[in-house]
Amino acid sequence: MQTVESLNDRGYAMVNGKKMLLFSSNNYLGLAHDDRLIQSSIQATQCYGAGSTGSRLTTGNTTVHEELEKRLARFKKTEAAVVFNTGYMANLAALTTLVGGDDVILSDEMNHASIIDGCRLSRAETIIYRHADLKDLELKLQQTSHYRKRLIVTDGVFSMDGDIAPLPGIVDLAERYDAVVMVDDAHATGVLGKDGSGTVEHFGLKDKAVIQMGTLSKAVGAEGGYIAGGQSLIDYLINKARPFIFSTSLPAGVIASALAAIDIIPSEDERRVRLREISKHLYDELTSLGYTVWGGETPILAIICGEPEKALFLSRTLYENGIFAPAIRPPTVPSGTSRIRFTVMATHQDEQIKKVIEVFKKMAPLIQGE
Ligand code: PMP
Repeated sequence: MQTVESLNDRGYAMVNGKKMLLFSSNNYLGLAHDDRLIQSSIQATQCYGAGSTGSRLTTGNTTVHEELEKRLARFKKTEAAVVFNTGYMANLAALTTLVGGDDVILSDEMNHASIIDGCRLSRAETIIYRHADLKDLELKLQQTSHYRKRLIVTDGVFSMDGDIAPLPGIVDLAERYDAVVMVDDAHATGVLGKDGSGTVEHFGLKDKAVIQMGTLSKAVGAEGGYIAGGQSLIDYLINKARPFIFSTSLPAGVIASALAAIDIIPSEDERRVRLREISKHLYDELTSLGYTVWGGETPILAIICGEPEKALFLSRTLYENGIFAPAIRPPTVPSGTSRIRFTVMATHQDEQIKKVIEVFKKMAPLIQGE
């Protein structure tokens, strides 16, 4: 585990005493250091204290929490939203509350660990369909008509591969086979859709019944998770979801910074434009240097190395050249696909991108000859 000693808004981090260019953060829009988020957080902390010291249903529910939920619902174009302490808890909350022993969950094989854990805890039967494979999903829907309820769950943007789920096809199948759809927009919130509201907006599906989960801890630049959907769904979660009921709520300072970010995200489109530009530029440059790169449509680029040793070698060499991007190995990713999970931020400067390309250029013969 590397220790980050300080971090700034220009893409630099001090890691183990060394100044590094950070290319592995989920702070896609660079908002974590935005002064508007920081000042909102300070003001709310002064007003409500450093910790919330109670669960939402006891003393930990402030006007800031309620305001954030209203704003999130508006942003996601849903009737209501509810905030959880983390995205992990939001997935656990939804999956364990919405399905049970008589139900079945159909889950993409590349879904995030928090979905996998939510499926396990839900006691529903879980059937895995091949990654983003609509034919396989349809086959599995045909085989599961005897269950009481069917829930299809997918990442919107897959965290390790950087690709986008085929949500229109999934929604279409759900309508035909009478299933419910839930999308995990942890990596799509702030990034996809013309206003940054995520996968549903990206595909023009806002009139469809999709349960939208997301995090406040990536592009939003704060901390927390949420579920957005119909009012009765949200009321049900508030009354039944154990991660909501039995955990102290987030401090108002964290909530206030998320609130500031939700105002900024739809209004500063240029951040998303910049993100797309540099992701595509890096994807094009790295593939032309002979690297195998997955993703490219999102700020997540998976630089595929194959064996873990090769990914570690690449990550170490990047580190020696002042670039911080750790290796990702099994069991986090399937064996044979060890990689560098390389992510870009809207605040990365042109000269930083140039430096990265130079380093990759220098390393290309080393990597190919490894
Ligand atoms: N879903 C996905 C797809 C994620 O990548 C993550 C975080 N890595 C989570 C959920 C959990 O979110 P959080 O970090 O806010 O708990």
